[in-house]
Amino acid sequence: MHFLVTGGAGYIGSHLVRALLAREDEATIVDDFSTGHRWAIQGREVIEVDLRDLAGLRRTLAGRHFDGVFHFAAKSLVGESQAQPLLYWQNNVAGTANLLQVANDNGWGRVVFSSTAAVYGNPETPRITEAHPTQPINVYGETKLAVERLLRDVSGAGKVAACSLRYFNAAGAADDASLGEAHEPETHLIPNALRAASGNAPALTVFGDDYDTPDGTCLRDYIHVEDLADAHLLAMDHLAAGGGFAAYNLGSGAGYSVRQVLDVCEQVVGRPIPHSIGARRAGDPPVLVAATELAQDCLGWTPRRASLRAIVESAWAWEQKGRPAAGGLTRRA
Ligand code: UDP
Repeated sequence: MHFLVTGGAGYIGSHLVRALLAREDEATIVDDFSTGHRWAIQGREVIEVDLRDLAGLRRTLAGRHFDGVFHFAAKSLVGESQAQPLLYWQNNVAGTANLLQVANDNGWGRVVFSSTAAVYGNPETPRITEAHPTQPINVYGETKLAVERLLRDVSGAGKVAACSLRYFNAAGAADDASLGEAHEPETHLIPNALRAASGNAPALTVFGDDYDTPDGTCLRDYIHVEDLADAHLLAMDHLAAGGGFAAYNLGSGAGYSVRQVLDVCEQVVGRPIPHSIGARRAGDPPVLVAATELAQDCLGWTPRRASLRAIVESAWAWEQKGRPAAGGLTRRA
């Protein structure tokens, strides 16, 4: 099978590409390299095009056959989304409409979409099922929810089958430390803690310790990036077997506080990590933990690397190794 992977040079997309190749599928990557890395996709076919550019998409992709599309490409920073809503609506929503147009025109019948727990907004229950109300509290979440509705409508009309995967906190790195998280700026807890440990970043700031949680810091559900990649393969198989539109939570189902994460990071690193307690970060709900039964029952997905320690160990191996050199085959639109 041959799949198109938008955003395949990004953190989660590049791990999915790896997983596809491991099962001897082919992958062609679409990326504009606004945040992705060429080193993450060395040796793969890459089409450098911005999804907002419908003419460019048509020029580079018309007449190609793909068995399905994994759609990762998106802007994903909450703060930036508040400051630049048009950028987010154009990239995430209009860009997806363009992609679906080209998929439709060329008969690529299946789309697996990267969504987020941010579609839920402020949780009303400690464990969130997919039936929880979707009331995003930031522009990023709004645009992801809008794409889910777009996919639901398009798949309802018959030509393209789609499903949506709502990630909780993606973390960790490839088992062999050859791929991992490399955001600039880095905003996520585990890489920030490990960068502080290795001296590659200033001391970690814990964003608030006065929440109504057992230790006062926020609880999150961390899921290994390779488990996420596995879920995408299963979701695509599910569509191929006739599955209809649905959204699935992807998490481990367990909540860990920022303090617990920091403790595990210190155990893995083997020394204290410089940190201080700061103010709350705007828009952070106190608890965000997935109910994952739907993905288990419908997709047959079970996270295999669910322990926080295993996640942090892989992230630490990656942090110590450093980033590979730039490279990769690029074809321009
Ligand atoms: N966090 C923190 N310091 C950081 C980054 C994150 O205390 O430098 C906290 C953040 O407030 C949240 C949790 O760690 O409670 C996870 O945040 P992250 O940005 O990794 O993921 P999010 O849950 O926002 O998607």
